[in-house]
Amino acid sequence: MATPIASLYLISVGALAMSAFHAGLLARNSSYERACWTFAVICLTFAGFQYANVLQLLAPGLAQAISAHKWANFFSLLLVPQIWYLVAALDKRKLAFRLAYGVACISALLVVDNLVSPFGYRFAALASDAPVQLAWGEPAFLLSGTTTPAYAVNRLLTVGAAVFGVVFCVRARRQRARFSNRLVWVSMALITVTTALGGATDTGLLRLPYVSGFGFLFLAASYLLLVRRETTQRLTEKIRISAALQREVESHRLSSRRFEHALTNDALTRLPNRAGALEKLRAMFLWSESSLTRMGVLLLDLDRLAIINGTRGHEAGNQVLVEVAQRLRAHCGRRRLVARLGSARFVVGIAGHKTWAGIEREVEGVLAAIKPPITIEGTELNMTFSAGVALYPDHALSAEDLLASAGLALHEARDAGPGNLRIFHPTLQQSLSERIGLENELNEALENGQFFLHYQPQVCAVTERVLGVEALIRWQHPALGVIMPDKFIPLAEESGAIAAIGSWVIDSACQQLADWRAMGFDDFRVAVNLSAQQLLLSDLDETVQQALERAGLRGEDLELEITESVLMQDPQRSIERLESLRSLGVRLSIDDFGTGYSSLGYLKMLPVHSFKLDRSFVRDIGQSEKDLEICATAVGLARNLGLEIVAEGVEDSVQAAQLRRLGCDLLQGYYFARPLAGYAVRAYLLDRNEMTIVGAA
Ligand code: C2E
Ligand code: MG
Ligand code: MG
Repeated sequence: MATPIASLYLISVGALAMSAFHAGLLARNSSYERACWTFAVICLTFAGFQYANVLQLLAPGLAQAISAHKWANFFSLLLVPQIWYLVAALDKRKLAFRLAYGVACISALLVVDNLVSPFGYRFAALASDAPVQLAWGEPAFLLSGTTTPAYAVNRLLTVGAAVFGVVFCVRARRQRARFSNRLVWVSMALITVTTALGGATDTGLLRLPYVSGFGFLFLAASYLLLVRRETTQRLTEKIRISAALQREVESHRLSSRRFEHALTNDALTRLPNRAGALEKLRAMFLWSESSLTRMGVLLLDLDRLAIINGTRGHEAGNQVLVEVAQRLRAHCGRRRLVARLGSARFVVGIAGHKTWAGIEREVEGVLAAIKPPITIEGTELNMTFSAGVALYPDHALSAEDLLASAGLALHEARDAGPGNLRIFHPTLQQSLSERIGLENELNEALENGQFFLHYQPQVCAVTERVLGVEALIRWQHPALGVIMPDKFIPLAEESGAIAAIGSWVIDSACQQLADWRAMGFDDFRVAVNLSAQQLLLSDLDETVQQALERAGLRGEDLELEITESVLMQDPQRSIERLESLRSLGVRLSIDDFGTGYSSLGYLKMLPVHSFKLDRSFVRDIGQSEKDLEICATAVGLARNLGLEIVAEGVEDSVQAAQLRRLGCDLLQGYYFARPLAGYAVRAYLLDRNEMTIVGAA
């Protein structure tokens, strides 16, 4: 039968069980994990104590009341070392734990005593053997009597636990720890009072059931409240820190991805760079190996990017590069390797072909895709590419070697002039080392006076009188002998030495003409070849003017030859440069005419005086109808434009006769004279021309 007091006890059992559960949950996130678990156990023990109290209060007879009382004793004996341990767990000091273990040993002895003693460990003899009336009239089985020494020991331990707890709370308060809360003090006071009341009941002073369980319930509620608050704070902090960490990790990952991307990619074109290309090439190698197919790399070098940078600015140069990159990407698709290796150099990987023919077709496709003119700031630029190809496994067995081999082929292509393609062959290795050697020596060659000029006469097609000479540079190399311009002019262009060498040529040619003039050879001019880079040099006008002034010549005594392909790259800019040169009075001529595919509309606009028909057309003029036709068309074109036409590379009388018949104005070639040293020109002139001034030496 549940009386009001029993119901209250049962409710407290539930509340204590709940508290135990709660403390267990908090233990996982609290910094006082051990204390929380201990607290959970204490709650359960108190629940047991309360339940045993209910059984004792409602016991039908003395025997049942004593049995329940022993259970209540058992739980209360367990509680003492647990409380000691709890305080030690909060205190976290070794000594506190040792004390708790000592108390546990004593309590264990008391538990045994409680079991064997007839009335439990508390009483030596009982004062009454029947239920009593509580203050409010409710009957309950309360036990009291003569207490034992064991009881006194347990009291001592209980008081000790209380003192220990107070000491801990005082210290915690000094350290401003979280457990110095007022609630804890109230709970401690409540437990002390309720425990003291229990003592009064035991000795028969009071007729009151044990209420220390309720006192503890208050502590349980306060403790859980505090730990919960602390845990919530910790959790919030944890979430904040983990969110911040997450952000940090994410930004780190992002920046390391960006860094990796920058390491393997080109910022301007967004294509892979050299490192990226090598990575992909290695993967392609593995695939080619396993599929027993050939692969190749096509290296492309945008010819004369420096000219665009110099004449239109780097921004325009960058636009050209980006456009080329886009065309390559669009043509090759995402799966093919397309990368930018250096300033004007691109690489395309070609794989999956059993035969060379397949690779060749792809190379042709790529070249066709990048060939169309590029429009920059409203101007059409005709870009050409030098190209080198190397194959796996034919030319190299590693990604690095394959690129290097294609690089050698590219060098050879560049030497052959803009727009050429070469395929790797083993002898290239040797020519490269020669080339590097030459490039190093080139810079000193001018200082050491190793350059000299030869002059090739240009004669009137009708009278065969010498009307001009073309200055052609040679390099007297100390070890290799005479080196021809085709071998070193491209190197000088690449290394930048061309500016100084070009100025020297203009100056020397003007000086030589002045010397001939002084000797009495009049009425002929000197022609000088300009390289692509020279044309864009801003101080070219000045160089020319100074050379003329120094030699005491007029503008019309000097002719500047510019190859057609150079002019075609940036037609608009070329016209501007030519006009500025023309204003100095010098004659301008288009060299190697017919090889640059200039449109008629463009040719009309060029402010030049003459065309020099390329010697490749002249060579076969006797045998090939087509070449004869080309020469005739060129001559007709020059006539229509009111320009002079010079045929170069005339090697025999048949060619000379044909060209004369077609209407060429001047003829130049081995048939008339090979390029000659300055003194030999004088002899040649003496031989062919009547001297205008008799006093010549
Ligand atoms: P280019 O201006 O077209 O010069 C004509 C080239 O044809 C010269 O070769 C000349 O020796 C050669 N040649 C002349 N007549 C005949 C012939 O009847 N048959 C054959 N097979 N060849 C003939 P070279 O001297 O080796 O010059 C080659 C190129 O080097 C020149 O072609 C010119 O573009 C360039 N070059 C020469 N000197 C200079 C220079 O001072 N500055 C620059 N930038 N380039 C130069
Ligand atoms: Mg020339
Ligand atoms: Mg020529």
